[in-house]
Amino acid sequence: MTSSVASPGAEIVRAACPHDCPDTCAMLVTVEQREGKRVAVKVVGDPDHPTTQGALCTKVSRYLERTYHPDRLLYPQKRIGPKGRGRFMRVSWGEALADIAARLRTIAAIDPQRVVPYSYAGTMGLVQGEAMAARFLHKLGASFLDRTICATAGAEAINATLGTRTGTDLEQFQNARLIVFWGTNAIASNLHLWSRAQEAKRRGAKLIAIDPYRSQTAEKCQQHIALLPGTDAALALGIMNVLIARDWLDHDYIARYTLGFDELAARARNFPPQRVAQLCGIDADIVESLAHDYWHIRPAAIRLNYGMQRAAGGGNAVRAVACLPALAGHWRAAAGGVLLSTSGMFNLDNAALHRPDLLAGRTPRTINMSDALIVYNSNPVAVAPQSRAVAAGFAREDLFTVVLDHFQTDTADYADYLLPATTQLEHVDVHRAYGHLYMLANNAAIEPLGEALPNSEIFRRLARAMGFTEPCFRESDDEIASVAFKRAGTTAQFDWNSLKRSGWQRLAVAEIYAPFAHGNFPTPSGRCEFRSQQLADLGIDPVPDYVPPNEGPVSNPELARRFPLAIISPPARNFLNSTFVNVASLRAVDGEPSLEIHPLDAAARAISDGDRVRVFNDRGSLDLAAHVTDRARRGVVVALSIWWKKLARDGKNANELTNQRLTDIGRAPTFYDCLVQVERA
Ligand code: SF4
Repeated sequence: MTSSVASPGAEIVRAACPHDCPDTCAMLVTVEQREGKRVAVKVVGDPDHPTTQGALCTKVSRYLERTYHPDRLLYPQKRIGPKGRGRFMRVSWGEALADIAARLRTIAAIDPQRVVPYSYAGTMGLVQGEAMAARFLHKLGASFLDRTICATAGAEAINATLGTRTGTDLEQFQNARLIVFWGTNAIASNLHLWSRAQEAKRRGAKLIAIDPYRSQTAEKCQQHIALLPGTDAALALGIMNVLIARDWLDHDYIARYTLGFDELAARARNFPPQRVAQLCGIDADIVESLAHDYWHIRPAAIRLNYGMQRAAGGGNAVRAVACLPALAGHWRAAAGGVLLSTSGMFNLDNAALHRPDLLAGRTPRTINMSDALIVYNSNPVAVAPQSRAVAAGFAREDLFTVVLDHFQTDTADYADYLLPATTQLEHVDVHRAYGHLYMLANNAAIEPLGEALPNSEIFRRLARAMGFTEPCFRESDDEIASVAFKRAGTTAQFDWNSLKRSGWQRLAVAEIYAPFAHGNFPTPSGRCEFRSQQLADLGIDPVPDYVPPNEGPVSNPELARRFPLAIISPPARNFLNSTFVNVASLRAVDGEPSLEIHPLDAAARAISDGDRVRVFNDRGSLDLAAHVTDRARRGVVVALSIWWKKLARDGKNANELTNQRLTDIGRAPTFYDCLVQVERA
């Protein structure tokens, strides 16, 4: 059953949280009939789902406020003012789709690669994400988008080291004796793992946070190590240095299940605690004590998140940290190891979903100059680095831009056509997780509001308007969802109808999941690869090293003299990237965009708490309210993010300052590799 009766006249619908969060919660939506219409009246976490355990985060607890928000886009609109001003007039779907199809046809006749998609994880759903959109773009022959904005540095680094993206099961963390939160504010972005860690703490475990910022998570750990941004690899190599020097090594595990120990050990010898202390801006005895705890407190689990990979050496940093459990033998226990992502465990049929065969032998280039941009599931004007340059690109009068969204975001202001998309309560979808081992179904709880349509239906209708006749463009959302699991030649992992009824199902893995207890790394060598020939073949250093930040005293002393403070812009607890910023009750918690600055850095600039400050570098400047606090370590300022620019006093956000350089592995942006100066406004 997709639903069951809750109280007279009410119904419970099984759904899944669609947001870019490792927890992928199972939700129960209560729906009532009011004046002949289905109305969602309550959204809660499914108490029976083992990782959700009945709790949603504050953001998604407010999902009704977002769904029924008075600013929801409810009908198609066409631009009537200058680009960026956000002035539109209502048009019919027929008029919008016919005009968009005509424009795309004209551009495609010259070169279809001049049409570029821009999408990311606005929904993590496999149907409303890339399925029908990818089919449409493949048939058209549009350019590919290299979707590297968030996770590819870490993902490629983990793949090179462990062979796939999997790790310690979230459901085992309460059994760990030592948990290291490395580059992650779990309370804000991995709540359900945090609750397991709290249970571990009650049972006597030690929690350590490694983060330049004293986040809510760091505050609640017994130890917080506030290193400088972008120096995580140096710390990991320093821990290795001590493990090796003291012979705190699982020699048997290393001999049986790893590759390249001698080369890694040679690398680690360059990182004695004194040098690491200097690079990371911490005391040398912290490196010693961390290595001591990592060997003696067993099992130890590291929750590694994407924060550390947003700097020049982000890929190497993830690789260095991912080597630690094999050295100390922590993979032997189900509650030991490291977790970045579990997404490699879901054996999806991407060919059936995305239909690359529609390219018909063409190999479009990966993003280049464009005449048309189709934006869905993303808000690039707010979230992409070096925002001023991004906005200038969107303002090009010769660029034809179509935006699908729920709200008139910063990006939507630049659209030629603004198309209303449905929220998770109004459409069907299927979700794999990246922080646990369950597949989830999302049933539609209510009818689409106004004239909003699912992304899939918008691309389906656009395909029809373009004259695309392949049967795949007529598949329903249920049909698309049902092919997600059927990889040719393999047994389907799930049955869609059964998944819809139950809401969630666990992957067919052991209840006590210990992925690498006996090696079995799916790397080319079958071992945990301290040395990766795959990376060497790409011209990348095959052994983890410390790659200093692009913007720092080592790589660029002149820049560091002019802009002596590092800035990071991690997620505010009540925002999820730029989603939820326009939900008033959530935005009220954060008040206004602010800059957290250490008391000594503030005093050196005669800045007092509450002052307006100008934060600037060569790319731009921001006007923020100063919050003087030792949550920010010396030398590092913090601007919690990602604000909608139009909701900030100066119409800007932290991406005004970030740069477009890429990471060492995975071609990802280096958001947290950024220097600024601060002065009183
Ligand atoms: S914790 Fe994550 S998955 Fe769960 S409701 Fe919140 S955003 Fe969604």
